[in-house]
Amino acid sequence: MNTQARNQLKRRAVFLDRDGVINAKLPEDRYVGYASEFTFLPGVIQALRTFEKLGYLRVVVTNQRGIGRGLMTEEQLMAVHDYMNRELEKRGVKLDAVYYCPHDECENCACRKPQPGMILEAAHDLDIDPASSYMVGDSPADIGAGSRAGTRTVRIAEEADDTADLVFPNLIAFATFLESRADEADQPEHVS
Ligand SMILES: [Mg+2]
Ligand SMILES: [Zn+2]
Repeated sequence: MNTQARNQLKRRAVFLDRDGVINAKLPEDRYVGYASEFTFLPGVIQALRTFEKLGYLRVVVTNQRGIGRGLMTEEQLMAVHDYMNRELEKRGVKLDAVYYCPHDECENCACRKPQPGMILEAAHDLDIDPASSYMVGDSPADIGAGSRAGTRTVRIAEEADDTADLVFPNLIAFATFLESRADEADQPEHVS
């Protein structure tokens, strides 16, 4: 079997940064340590539904160095993610997995974005083909991680970003784009 045929058996995914993509970011140097601080951004639920409908797994990859810095605990992060997953479930949509990096920058780990570790681990665990997947994030580190892992990259930003393959102001705008491509060509994985 050639590489292309084998990759078609693999699954595709939308890898999602969390803060600033799924939920509202807190001010600099503050970390979401409680469910009460977690607010879904507008259109996110609908966007996740669209990804699911189009056959993309939904995998969160999030840097959480507040843990490494001692500003929150891993247990707090788990509780926040439990809350996020429960709220999504209530609305009939789900994430396939959530990966997080708890390390501070100085720890030089392989998982903190822009390192591709979390994406590569998820791709291995869930049998995902990075090349037919997208990494979506609101910071340059997200785009770096996606590029290094071999995904296509989507920057959520108001301004242009030449380092990303695509740029949209929010997640729902990307989902709408992906859906229109699917309608058009039945090949949402092909972006030229
Ligand atoms: Mg972010
Ligand atoms: Zn790490």
